[in-house]
Amino acid sequence: MKTMTKERPPSVERLLALAATDARFAGHGTASVTDALRVELSRIRDVWRETGERPDNTTILGNAAELCRARTRPSLSSVINATGVILHTGLGRAVLCDSALRQIRETATGHSNLEIDLDNGERGSRCDHVESRLCDLTGAEAALVVNNDAGAVLLALAATATNREVIVSRGELVEIGGGFRIPEVMAQSGARLVEVGTTNKTRLSDYERAIGPNTAALLTVHPSNFRVVGFTESTELADIVAIAHKHALPVLDDLGSGALVSLQNTAIADEPTVYDRLSAGVDAVMFSGDKLLGGPQAGILIGSKAIIDPMRCHPLARALRCDKLALAALEATLIVYQRGAAWDELPVLRALCRPEQELLASAEGLAEMIGRGGIAAEVRKTEARIGAGSAPGRVLPSFAVAVAHECLGPNEAANLLRHATPPVIARVEDDKLILDVRTLLPGETERVAGIVLEAFIPAKMTRRTRN
Ligand SMILES: *Cc1c(COP(=O)(O)O)cnc(C)c1O
Repeated sequence: MKTMTKERPPSVERLLALAATDARFAGHGTASVTDALRVELSRIRDVWRETGERPDNTTILGNAAELCRARTRPSLSSVINATGVILHTGLGRAVLCDSALRQIRETATGHSNLEIDLDNGERGSRCDHVESRLCDLTGAEAALVVNNDAGAVLLALAATATNREVIVSRGELVEIGGGFRIPEVMAQSGARLVEVGTTNKTRLSDYERAIGPNTAALLTVHPSNFRVVGFTESTELADIVAIAHKHALPVLDDLGSGALVSLQNTAIADEPTVYDRLSAGVDAVMFSGDKLLGGPQAGILIGSKAIIDPMRCHPLARALRCDKLALAALEATLIVYQRGAAWDELPVLRALCRPEQELLASAEGLAEMIGRGGIAAEVRKTEARIGAGSAPGRVLPSFAVAVAHECLGPNEAANLLRHATPPVIARVEDDKLILDVRTLLPGETERVAGIVLEAFIPAKMTRRTRN
């Protein structure tokens, strides 16, 4: 209700008194409410000056309450991943399993034995909770966990090769996303990079020729997010190991995505596992916790005691240490592997191995629900991806629903879905808005249908009334 009037706007004190008994301000302190009221009053004065219109107290309070709510609403929130990219870095990579969530809650709710040895009451190491499990699952002698894989690579190089040389193939000098490049991470570690071979060909002899008195290690890097095709040659890891060990040098392997189980029966059968890399004889493997392993963000280092132990007491190990909630989630995830239940319980592995029949049924159900609401929707065959620099160029057969908005183009319609609650992240393909069902979690199909209908239908009606 708007009235024309010559009075002054209400005072902040008057409005504060009204807000004190207004449930919409519950949980907001006086300072926060006062500020919101001031912002709203100042806006109103401008409108009043220009138009002579003065909103009543109910409107002012309503707007201030909305401002309080908007300011304190978390910006980081859950979204629905309909992109078909299982490990989407922009969408937080691996979805955690239920037992990891329970363990985070358990650990965060009170104090924990994070760094205390309950047997003798003395100071322990936070990595103790996961080390033997990692060794158990990979066959490694020792393990260490830091904040992420980039940190693990930095620490491994700093502890092994500061002021000395590390040999790496030119074909493996990758940018791992977000503008971070392996050569730059190496430079920060104080190790000197010696590049060998060419982009498409690196031979064993290239490595051997580069080894000199100042060489500290050989580094191999999984070319996670690209593939060189055509006239290529890379060397077998076991041969690189043999050359390095002949010269008493360690091989550090940045695997990136650390699969702990064989992916033999999946579309990415040739993606190496952590176990494969260790079996080839490398001295240390570094990998992420939140890629194919399916756990929290973490950088895991495993290998021989001789190479891992010096890393434990390097100052960078402290600077890069893993958060306790990540450790809680990682331990729970590793226990799932120890129980042999990874394919059943880890959302990443479940998404990876969902059968095509199930995907088709899910897409048909989604198209049907959307179609029933009057929005054009059709099932199409599509290709999903692993993402996060795993298995580059490798696709997984999938099914999707293409939805068409009556008057908006696919990019504008995608934008509409990103602004829904919760946001739905779709992808645009062949000028169509595509909802890939492979990355939808249990129960999300129905929610996506509801969100699409809600987001698309009001826009349609507005246009109708306007015409
Ligand atoms: C993903 C990746 C990284 C970076 O891992 P974060 O855990 O994101 O730091 C480093 N190296 C390779 C080969 C990767 O694939």
